[in-house]
Amino acid sequence: MKESGWQLEHSYAGLPDVFYKETQPETAEFPEIVLFNWNLAKSLGLDPRNLQLESSEVFSGNRIPDGGLPIAQAYAGHQFGNFTMLGDGRAILLGEQITPEGRRVDIQLKGAGRTVFSRMGDGRSPLGPMLREYIISEAMHALDIPSTRGLALVTTGEAVSRDRMLPGAVLTRVAASHLRVGTFEYAARLEDASHIRTLADYAMERHYPEIEVPDKYLKFLDAVIDRQAALISRWQLVGFIHGVMNTDNMTISGETIDYGPCAFMDMYDPETVFSSIDVNKRYRYRNQPGIAQWNLARLAETLLPLIHDDKEEAMKIAQASLGNFGKLYNNYWQSGMRRKIGLVGGEEIDDSLANELLDLMHQYKADFTKTFRMLSLDALEDMPLYATEAFKNWYERWQERLESQRLPVESAYEQMRSVNPAVIPRNHLVEEALDAAVENGDFTKASKLIEVLSSPFEDGHDRMFKEPPEDEERVHMTYCG
Ligand code: AMP
Ligand code: MG
Ligand code: MG
Repeated sequence: MKESGWQLEHSYAGLPDVFYKETQPETAEFPEIVLFNWNLAKSLGLDPRNLQLESSEVFSGNRIPDGGLPIAQAYAGHQFGNFTMLGDGRAILLGEQITPEGRRVDIQLKGAGRTVFSRMGDGRSPLGPMLREYIISEAMHALDIPSTRGLALVTTGEAVSRDRMLPGAVLTRVAASHLRVGTFEYAARLEDASHIRTLADYAMERHYPEIEVPDKYLKFLDAVIDRQAALISRWQLVGFIHGVMNTDNMTISGETIDYGPCAFMDMYDPETVFSSIDVNKRYRYRNQPGIAQWNLARLAETLLPLIHDDKEEAMKIAQASLGNFGKLYNNYWQSGMRRKIGLVGGEEIDDSLANELLDLMHQYKADFTKTFRMLSLDALEDMPLYATEAFKNWYERWQERLESQRLPVESAYEQMRSVNPAVIPRNHLVEEALDAAVENGDFTKASKLIEVLSSPFEDGHDRMFKEPPEDEERVHMTYCG
């Protein structure tokens, strides 16, 4: 067989043994490839044609690709605020693919069987949640939001037991790395105090190679804080609700990871929460920035011994860094929101224009995505919001501000259309695609949805992909796998 293009390396496995455990994937009986990301494969230097021949075997975990070294990574994490030792309980890292441009990305199988970290779990994944992750992570990528990605989806031909028997699947996930805040929490609790430094050095070399002495560990903390502030602002600006912002689901690279009960908001309401397990609404939309800061504080705690020999002093320094999160986040959010309403330059009135618009959207239960898109097309007429006096008043002040800036109004609208998506993975469409796949083995809806979501800023899509759900179509709750 011809070369498939695998260039796997294993820098993570160069860390001390406590960070991982070599693990063979369990085999799947009747693996069948149902989705394959040709474009992503090509950008990774894989040859899709040759890969296709071996794809169901490799992407089910039945066959380890050339140069692969399967391991499960150790980590810990705060789940809904409580500390737990975790690790890859249903994920196996095959290695790091070196792309033609020299990028290093993790290739991970999710749902390929038990590991030493599986605890009571079966190491398996039902098809629904894996398909959901594939669809939404690809949509995030197309929205230009840093995210892990889906390379392949394979059904295993085996049933997975949840509240009922469900078809099993393995998702191949591509990530800048799987280093998490929780990896640092794990390292900081190891007996050997040198491990946290080893991990920090590794993470810096991989994700922040520009950082130099002095104070490199503080600079590292600041850099992660900055990337997360940027990431969470991007989530907020498209109405994305992660759903399970546990510290083990927050990356050091700044990519979005672990698409569980996540969902995009339809009607704008800052209190929105979808996850069935989030009974206290800890991870509701408006809490996301605050939770990110809380998670970063957990990261900072692990780095204290590296920041200063004196613990008090280290804490003071770390506190100051964490204190910057709010300012960084607000700056990212404000400049993003200005772009969403076509403003450049940044004037005093901009913030109140943005916030008043959001208040009106909330008050009149306006659809988040459609409102911004229709605003960008200057085609709001058929939206209920448009009929209100309060909105008309806002609209006039906004138009004045648009006309007073140096940027021609037409260019402002163009800018808006480049940041306000026409299509997002709406929950009712995602659920419909999942249902067809799970109940009937029919992936046509999923494939069509993935295709549409790959060009989110175009208007030519079918109306059904752009419209908010009817009341009876609305999804109120999402579930973990
Ligand atoms: P998640 O909610 O996907 O972030 O997972 C939290 C932790 O539970 C991670 O350590 C997972 O590896 C583990 N886990 C989730 N589902 C399973 C499963 N079916 N079998 C074993 N471990 C699991
Ligand atoms: Mg080793
Ligand atoms: Mg996780």
